[in-house]
Amino acid sequence: MKNQLLVSIKRSTRLASVRLASSSTTKFDWEDALNLDKSLTSEEVLLKNTFRDFCQKALLPRILKSNRNAVYEREVLKDMASMGALGCTIGAYGCTKVSEVGYGLIAREVERVDSAYRSALSVQSSLVMHAINAYGTNEQKEQYLPRLATAELVGSFGLTEPNAGSDPGIMETKAIYKSDKKSYVLNGTKTWITNAPIADVFIIWAKCEDKRIRGFIIDREMSGISTAAIPGKMSLRASSTGTIFMDNCIVPESNLLSSVEGLAGPFGCLNHARYGIAWGSLGAAEACLSISRSYCLDRIQFGKPLAGTQLIQKKLADMVTEISIGLAACLQVGRLKDQGLASPEMISLIKRNSTGKALEIARMARDMLGGNGISDEYHIIRHLVNLESVITYEGTHDIHALILGRAITGLQAFK
Ligand SMILES: Cc1cc2nc3c(=O)[nH]c(=O)nc-3n(C[C@H](O)[C@H](O)[C@H](O)COP(=O)(O)OP(=O)(O)OC[C@H]3O[C@@H](n4cnc5c(N)ncnc54)[C@H](O)[C@@H]3O)c2cc1C
Repeated sequence: MKNQLLVSIKRSTRLASVRLASSSTTKFDWEDALNLDKSLTSEEVLLKNTFRDFCQKALLPRILKSNRNAVYEREVLKDMASMGALGCTIGAYGCTKVSEVGYGLIAREVERVDSAYRSALSVQSSLVMHAINAYGTNEQKEQYLPRLATAELVGSFGLTEPNAGSDPGIMETKAIYKSDKKSYVLNGTKTWITNAPIADVFIIWAKCEDKRIRGFIIDREMSGISTAAIPGKMSLRASSTGTIFMDNCIVPESNLLSSVEGLAGPFGCLNHARYGIAWGSLGAAEACLSISRSYCLDRIQFGKPLAGTQLIQKKLADMVTEISIGLAACLQVGRLKDQGLASPEMISLIKRNSTGKALEIARMARDMLGGNGISDEYHIIRHLVNLESVITYEGTHDIHALILGRAITGLQAFK
């Protein structure tokens, strides 16, 4: 036994030294500092490269104008649909099937261009299509999912209200059942809702007479629903954000998302979307890193490139470190999610970490460009103001700290 153990220890020491020798010859790639590509399947690498190419060629040339003029382009969602990106983890009803890691990689490439475009992808896929796929009837899935997958229909998700943001349990929107009409009558207001002004379909969360929260699919044509855009938005300007008013809005019983009750409904969707945001926000951070690195290599001050100074190199080192660790965490949670083993707290952890770190990186990168960092021509300021929304929506940075704090201590500190 002793000898066998010795032999296996010797063998593993030999293997380790072979690995050490080969790893010392591995070239460091600042764009993939921890060689995460090695942990992707060949399909995932292909997906990532295909989407990077698509996003850089088809989406990047549009964003400056859309952002400046605060214009939401429906064509962007259609283009993402033509790439099979919408509802891409569903694998039925006209949707493609990629892994959760694959979905994360897509979100990362889209947000490398702009957080507004990734928001459009997230709302359509994770908040609207996921709600229908997870909680809807077969008829609802057949009616809505294929048309949402092609972007023939644009969806919207109404949870937040003027008096209920971080605490959605106190929502005021009411749904009263009318048995004679086999319908619900909804009254209330949802605000800060992505896509509200342009959406064809709304997933609305409302409190029924038994005080339970339930979800409803509302078509724009239904009576009693109207929307208005929120003006003066300084962030996510290429996304359309607005308010939804329901004034005796009549929704047929057949449009109830019947298999879920309580906050588990909206939270299940948010969990899915937050996961995509964790990947996506690091895509925005990667764009800021890449632009600021190139700028500092070219920009000569005090007789040498800015990139040759210690302070700039420290900033670049911090950026590469945080992006790499953040992506490694997303990859780990993605693999667990693929096996059904990712907890909501894990997703809070990566959403909080990625968005917080991405915002810090965008601020650093903006500073490294000096005055030019203020111009949208250099893209970083756009990412920076976008990330102010991304760190706020789908649970603020501090709300995710409270979710984690509750799990760590067993004590809830929300109230
Ligand atoms: C561009 C954009 C798009 C959005 N899209 C959507 C959408 O599609 N659908 C949707 O439903 N919503 C959407 N939202 C709303 C978003 O989810 C909310 O803004 C977010 O949940 C925060 O709610 P609130 O704005 O009411 O802030 P509040 O809840 O009022 O929070 C304000 C501050 O108080 C802090 N705070 C709150 N509670 C506590 C506590 N217990 N302890 C300590 N600090 C606390 C928060 O962290 C925050 O800093 C969007 C928001 C934006 C900006």
